[in-house]
Amino acid sequence: MTEGAARRAELAAHLAAVHERIDAACRAVGRSGEEVTVVAITKTFPASDVRLLAGLGVRHVGENRDQEARPKAEACRDLDLTWHFVGQLQRNKAASVARYADVVESVDRGRLVTALDRAAGEVGRRIGACVQVDLDERAHVPEPGVPGRGGCPPAEVLDLAGQVAASRHLDLLGVMAVAPLGADPVAAFDLLAAVHAQVLAEHPAAGMRSAGMSGDLEAAIAAGATHVRLGSALLGRREALK
Ligand SMILES: *Cc1c(COP(=O)(O)O)cnc(C)c1O
Repeated sequence: MTEGAARRAELAAHLAAVHERIDAACRAVGRSGEEVTVVAITKTFPASDVRLLAGLGVRHVGENRDQEARPKAEACRDLDLTWHFVGQLQRNKAASVARYADVVESVDRGRLVTALDRAAGEVGRRIGACVQVDLDERAHVPEPGVPGRGGCPPAEVLDLAGQVAASRHLDLLGVMAVAPLGADPVAAFDLLAAVHAQVLAEHPAAGMRSAGMSGDLEAAIAAGATHVRLGSALLGRREALK
């Protein structure tokens, strides 16, 4: 087998295992596996892996750093993929991200909405946006040396969602969250469900709930996730960044 064929077989096996987990998690709560979309988080992995995943039927890919995502998306422009941006986003990167991202899941403050809206207008695209909700109920005190994972405090999500909905070039798709490290993911995803219900009451079309990663997709699906963001379960272990 060539290296490419071996990698393809490995990714195919991971993908099948992931779909089995998703189907089992859905069955356990009376949902259908078809209600859950896999977003393959390809950070640290090469464009060749994105290409293999696309060949295996993956339609959604996600990245968390603009400098890595931009060339990868460019190298895969011929593929029929929806690109999600899921990382913390600086306003000065909004213009770059607006060129390739179809969905920005990590919108967490008003100034970013303004910057993304302007950038999308300048490149003549519409971009989907989720409000990233900070589910960490322990005080919002940054720990030295620990990078924050971003997110809007739950009490401010409705205002931010309203701002996205009122923008000219962004479509409010729903909400996204990362379960806090070291906390119970079930409680965290229940909080996300409650926050999402408030958003849906005002914006009935904003049905996307992106929650769950390789380690906690079952808890996320039980709590109603529509999208799971899977990195290591699909692609394997990542080398530490930097
Ligand atoms: C890396 C990343 C993921 C995927 O993490 P895994 O545990 O490897 O599945 C999901 N969401 C975000 C925001 C990420 O940065």
